[in-house]
Amino acid sequence: MKITKVRAVAHEVKNNITGWKISLGTKDNHELIFVRIDTDAKIFGVGVASPGAIYISGDTGAHHLELINRVLGPAIVGSDPFELEAIMRKLDAVAKTAERAKAGIDLALHDLLGKALGMPANRLFGGAVRQEVRVNRLMGMYPPREMAEKCAAVVEKGYTALKLKVGTTLQEDVERVRRVREAVGPEVMLTIDFNQACSAKEAIQRIQRMEPYDVAIVEQPVKAADLKGMALVRRAVQARVMADESVNSPAEAMRVIESGAADIISLKIPKMGGIFKARKVAALCEAAGIDYLVGTAPGTRLLDAAGVHLAASLRNLTLPCEIGEFERIAGDPCSGLEIVGGISRPPPGPGLGVEVDLGRIGLAG
Ligand SMILES: [Mg+2]
Repeated sequence: MKITKVRAVAHEVKNNITGWKISLGTKDNHELIFVRIDTDAKIFGVGVASPGAIYISGDTGAHHLELINRVLGPAIVGSDPFELEAIMRKLDAVAKTAERAKAGIDLALHDLLGKALGMPANRLFGGAVRQEVRVNRLMGMYPPREMAEKCAAVVEKGYTALKLKVGTTLQEDVERVRRVREAVGPEVMLTIDFNQACSAKEAIQRIQRMEPYDVAIVEQPVKAADLKGMALVRRAVQARVMADESVNSPAEAMRVIESGAADIISLKIPKMGGIFKARKVAALCEAAGIDYLVGTAPGTRLLDAAGVHLAASLRNLTLPCEIGEFERIAGDPCSGLEIVGGISRPPPGPGLGVEVDLGRIGLAG
């Protein structure tokens, strides 16, 4: 089997709630880049690239589109889609970084190979060691009272883990966590994500003031490159510290591990260049004895389905994963994945196991 064609199209979706905000910026729409890979065997796969907010990724959807259609796609036409390692090496040779665009190709390949073999994508990389993955839902940064109401509504739907975006002032951040804890009760697992908002000293002060409200995980309290600062925070607080923006590759994971900067690494398919590369970071975590979870970029069931397949395959996974954010998107062109009682299951169908409305996104035929 050979790859004959790689096509990407842009498709914009909107949040079904307004005012989504994190410490780095605000965003109510998401530009998704859907990727279709065709073969001479008449089997095709569909993936999605998530450019993400430019204040996080430093990149745009238009650039992803151009990269996939003009550089990355042509580089792999003629390749055998089963030769994933060779394909990834080719992509790395023609474009430095651009991991978010490469992730769209990686997902389309996993969809394609699963369809070619008639099996769910996770069987391509070791199979599922679990069929149920607990979901951690994200909560944008709102005024404390409003945030607590929104969290209570999500818990009402059956979710047992929440991630709160924080990073304004000390008073407000502590108040957010206090009010949310009061609203959701003692059982819900709370993560807070600063998205790099603090210096190490500021972070330590804030997290220590939150200790009465039982925060389990503190995500990326300091700048991505400040591994010394993150290690300082980790030594000073009771909560476990998770690296997100600090780790986009195996090399960055090595530096975080060597610096003792984190207890947990957030594996994300978009920022790490796809499932194939994210699993290499997972192997480093396993070797180093540190934890991991599957994080997300918001968008579509197609990306979250890939996240569930990855999460189901991770031998040491114990933490809830961010694989339910399609619920805050209006008009997802994909269907076939739902969260029931705060639990996600890998779709049983071939490939990523999600139905994509190809006509609607302009990738039919
Ligand atoms: Mg994060």
